[in-house]
Amino acid sequence: MLAFDVIVVGGGHAGCEAAATAARAGAKTALVTLRLDNLGVLSCNPAIGGLGKGHLVREIDAMDGVMGRMADEAGIQFRVLNRRKGPAVRGPRAQIDRRLYREAMARDLLERTPGLTVVVAEAADIAVNNDAVSGLALADGRVLTAPSLVITTGTFLRGLVHIGTERVPAGRIGENPAVRLAERLEATGFTMGRLKTGTPARLDGRTINWSDLEEQHGDSPPEPFSTLTKGISLPQVPCHITRTTAATHDVIRRNLDKAPVYSGQIDGIGPRYCPSIEDKVVRFADRDSHQIFLEPEGLDDPTVYPNGISTSLPRDIQDVFLRTIPGLEAVRVIQHAYAIEYDYIDPRELFPTLEAKRLPGLFLAGQINGTTGYEEAAAQGLVAGLNAARRAGGQDGVIFNRSESYIGVLVDDLVTHGVSEPYRMFTSRSEFRLALRADNADRRLSPKADALGLLGRTRRDAFSAKVEAIEHWTKRLHGLSVFPVEAARAGVMLSQDGVRRSAFDILSYPTVAWGALVRLWPELGDAPELAAEQITIDAKYAVYLQRQEDDLIRLRKDEALDLSTFDADKYGDIPGLSSELRAKLQAIRPRSIAQARGIEGMTPAALVLLAAHARKRPVPAKILDCAEPRS
Ligand code: FAD
Repeated sequence: MLAFDVIVVGGGHAGCEAAATAARAGAKTALVTLRLDNLGVLSCNPAIGGLGKGHLVREIDAMDGVMGRMADEAGIQFRVLNRRKGPAVRGPRAQIDRRLYREAMARDLLERTPGLTVVVAEAADIAVNNDAVSGLALADGRVLTAPSLVITTGTFLRGLVHIGTERVPAGRIGENPAVRLAERLEATGFTMGRLKTGTPARLDGRTINWSDLEEQHGDSPPEPFSTLTKGISLPQVPCHITRTTAATHDVIRRNLDKAPVYSGQIDGIGPRYCPSIEDKVVRFADRDSHQIFLEPEGLDDPTVYPNGISTSLPRDIQDVFLRTIPGLEAVRVIQHAYAIEYDYIDPRELFPTLEAKRLPGLFLAGQINGTTGYEEAAAQGLVAGLNAARRAGGQDGVIFNRSESYIGVLVDDLVTHGVSEPYRMFTSRSEFRLALRADNADRRLSPKADALGLLGRTRRDAFSAKVEAIEHWTKRLHGLSVFPVEAARAGVMLSQDGVRRSAFDILSYPTVAWGALVRLWPELGDAPELAAEQITIDAKYAVYLQRQEDDLIRLRKDEALDLSTFDADKYGDIPGLSSELRAKLQAIRPRSIAQARGIEGMTPAALVLLAAHARKRPVPAKILDCAEPRS
């Protein structure tokens, strides 16, 4: 029998991040994976990051996680999306070489993560003792023991692949589904549901006619995800753009009855914002063309991923419609598109630590919780791995609140509202998005990660140096000032009101860049580029942030009110709550006022009642809020 502090099942994005985080937090950790070479497999598109998702990767990096560094090691085209919009909604994204990503992940976990053991086996059953997790039974008969178990099986729980009328039980094409584990979770009483997602065909790039297709290049120079990455070393390659045609839509329309979603063969609910091509043709019937990005899967790999045309139509129909697309007239398909249906656990079964309410010691992270996307999975893996390690060490749980991170927004949305379709992150999901920028993720989260013992020395040193530089030069800016007339002499036009303004105030003007300040005060030219960039963003956002800060203070005050010791039936003692809200509170059991605030249908009046009730009970806060770590 092998004894660990934490066992993680699944080597996908949630599992890798969970295992690495648990080990970083000091736990003796086992990562159980079906195959060594499937650590960090990108099941769908060869890309990481994007709008909202890029923020998550930066936050994971700020907690010293792995995803950002691995993406930098395997990135073959980096682009910051929304670059022309404000920094708050810019999303770093990279095309990834699939093989290099897997190899980098395996290297990092196997060679550079002390305290982590990778066990190649199939997880079969959860071992339970005294109504809490005690370990994991493997299909080969071995049993691993641990007080904390993190399950991250993605689309594998009773996975069923659909291609036309073909239905194959599989967790991903060519891989067996996890049936025993699903049955065990069901028998434990978890509320489960069925979701679906799809992936497009993989094409042989050597059979694509590239000559007339539009090229899309990445940023030059590429901007890495991780603050630890000094530079991107891999060659950078372009993507290409093509479009569906009226003929494509015609083929699809004529064969809709063969698409499992329309024939009634699939019950699971798919992602509304990431529809299959047959969905697009039906829902946007007035459009005769949809854009397709042809994304390279790797530097030494001719495989091309046509982003935008996932489908579950039969193979022969796929072959026909693909060839109606410019550039793909003679294309050879390497792997046909498919849809997959799978079980998920209602995430309202979880506390915000991602520990299951009904089985202490069991943590769930990733697609199993109803999300979609590598980044959403990794973010949850980080939360679950950290809390699993802390539980094993007898420490308090850590919650990420939504006012300081997208990780907090993600977890709070999941455990409070559950999901009605695969959940993905968007910047619009955050009410604090001016403060939660991708560029300041480290300043928001690294101090907390450090207090929790998660930061390695290299990152701690790099972070301190960066913060010192920002503080030093910000102070300098506040100490320098000019009258508008002097500024005008250096070409910086301000309103001629005779008011002396600090360099920081001047920088807050939308049209003023750091270079303009250097014309006024040449010594500012010595500031490191990174510090100058950050201070410029800080200055531009200062006014808006002050307003948002007032809101945050109010919310944080409420967030500090602890509801974790409320028994479900105690809500019956609070007069004035509607029966509908009482039922919701009993089901969700929010741990804080902030979490209660997010419950669908919650009213300000009901929050006042809850807060008043909580204040009467001076209970010791059980939860370690990430904003104020107490370890
Ligand atoms: P996964 O990455 O799936 O990892 C699960 C891991 O668990 C695997 O390594 C598996 O081997 C392991 N495992 C399973 N059962 C066992 C067991 N019993 N014992 C041991 N190990 C086990 N995301 C998007 O953002 N956009 C998309 O368009 C999109 N389309 C997708 C289409 C398809 C067909 C699939 C399969 C996925 C798609 N995804 C998409 C989702 C994306 O791949 C996932 O969100 C992400 O990989 C989830 O990460 P995860 O760690 O939760 O699970």
